Amino acid sequence: MESSARAFKENARAAVADPQLKRALSHVKEGFIGKRAKAAAKLPEFEVLRDAARDIKNHTLDHLDLYLEHYERKVTEAGGQVHWCPTAEDARRAVLEICRAAGARTVTKGKSMIAEEIALNDHLEANGITPVETDLGEYIIQLRGETPSHIIAPAVHLTKDLIEADFRAHHTALPPERPLSEPRQLVNEAREVLRDKYLAADVGITGANFLVAETGTSVIVTNEGNGDLTQVLPRVHIVVASLEKIVPTLEDVSTILRVLARSATGQECSTYTTFSTGPKRAEDPDGPDQYHVILLDNGRSSMLGGEFQDMLRCIRCGACMNHCPVYHAIGGHAYGWVYPGPMGAVLTPSLIGIEEAGHLPSASTFCGRCESVCPMRIPLPKMMRHWREREFERHLSPTGARAGLALWAFFAKRPALYHFVTGMAAPVLAALGRGRFRRLPLAGGWTAHRDMPAPEGRTFRQLWAGHRQGGSR
Ligand code: SF4
Repeated sequence: MESSARAFKENARAAVADPQLKRALSHVKEGFIGKRAKAAAKLPEFEVLRDAARDIKNHTLDHLDLYLEHYERKVTEAGGQVHWCPTAEDARRAVLEICRAAGARTVTKGKSMIAEEIALNDHLEANGITPVETDLGEYIIQLRGETPSHIIAPAVHLTKDLIEADFRAHHTALPPERPLSEPRQLVNEAREVLRDKYLAADVGITGANFLVAETGTSVIVTNEGNGDLTQVLPRVHIVVASLEKIVPTLEDVSTILRVLARSATGQECSTYTTFSTGPKRAEDPDGPDQYHVILLDNGRSSMLGGEFQDMLRCIRCGACMNHCPVYHAIGGHAYGWVYPGPMGAVLTPSLIGIEEAGHLPSASTFCGRCESVCPMRIPLPKMMRHWREREFERHLSPTGARAGLALWAFFAKRPALYHFVTGMAAPVLAALGRGRFRRLPLAGGWTAHRDMPAPEGRTFRQLWAGHRQGGSR
C-alpha cells in the first residue's frame, strides 16, 4: 500500500464510487455504533471507568522505563525471553531467527496489528516460512492477498458473497456443491480447514492486547479462540507487541478490559481473554516449550513527553473508526497504511513521518465523534490539528490550501476589517446562492457530491446582536 496524498485521493475516489464497499461498510454504521451505545448505557460506571483507564495508561507512560524493565524481569523469571527491537527490521530479524532456530516451516498467527506494521508475513514468506492466519477475518484477507481494512474487523470491507466465492476458489479439495451461503457455514469451513494447520505449525505468533509488568504476562482478547490454539499448540510461542502495551498490574488490566470490549464490539467482555506467562511449566498439561516476546519500539519512544504521547494510550478498540464519517465513506484501505481512521490519522504520521502521511490528519471533518467515544479519552482532533500545524510549518500542505489560510489569517488578524467584509459578503452570497450552492468556483470538491448551504444573509455576530437587543430579526 502506498501512503501519499495523491494515492489517498485516488483511493478515496475509487472507494466512494464502489457500491459493494458501500454495502459492506454499512454494517460498521449499523452494527458497531448501536452495540457500543447499548453496552455503555447498561453500565452506570462506564464514564468513570474511562477516566480510570486513561489514568492507568498515563501513569504507565510516565514511568514506562521502570515498568518495561520490571516486565522483562518477570518474563525471564517465568522462563521466557524478551527481545528489545528498536525498529521494524530488528523485529522481523528476531522473529526469523527464532523460527529458524526452531526449524519452522509453517507458523500459525493470531491477529496482530504489530505484525502488519512490521510486514511480518512478507518477510517470513520471503525466507521460506509459510505464515497461516487463524483469525477468520485475517484468514479471508490472506486468501485474497489483501491487508486489513479495520483494526478489529479486518475483512469488514467484504460481503458474504465475496467470501463465499473466495472459499470456493481456494478450498478446492471440498465438494463444489456444498452449501456455503450462510455465515455459519463459512465459519465452519474455515474452522475445518484451519484445524490441521494448528497441529502442523512449529511456531505460533500472537499479538498482545496488554503486557502485565507485575507478572510478565501477555493478554490476548479474541472472540474465536484461535489465539489460544495458536499460542498453546506449537512448540514455540512468539508474542509481537509494541512497548506501550504495558500496564502495571492484573487489576489494571481488568479495569481496561471493561471498557475495551464494550467500546469495540459492544460486548460486556470478549469470548476469550487469555493470560500467558512464560512457557509450559512441569505441572502444565500443555503449552509451548519456548516463550518469546518481541518488544517493538518503532518510533513510539520518541512520542513520549511530546504532544502525541496521549496516542500511546490507544488500546486498538476501533471505536473511533466505527464512528468516523470519513471511514464510513471510504473504508480502511484508502488510508494507505496499516492504521486507518482517526487513530491512524494521528499514529501513522508519528510512525512513518509527516512527509509521508501529512495528508491523513486532513482527512477529518473534525466532528469530534472519535474523541467522544474513545475509551481512553484520547484527544484525537486536537492531535490531528497539531499535525496540520506541523504540515503547514514545513510547507508540506498544498499551495491552494496555504493561500486560502494566508487569506483567512490576513482578515482574522484584522477583526474590524473581517466583520466589515463578512457583513458585506453575507447578503451577496445569500442572494447568489438562493439557499444552496450547487457549484463553487475554486472549491469544486465541496460540491462534487453535495450542495453547499448558502449564508442566510446576516453574519452570526449580526444575528447575535439582534438577539441581544431582544429582536428576532
Ligand atoms: S484511539 Fe481510542 S477509540 Fe480509537 S482505537 Fe484507540 S482507544 Fe479505540
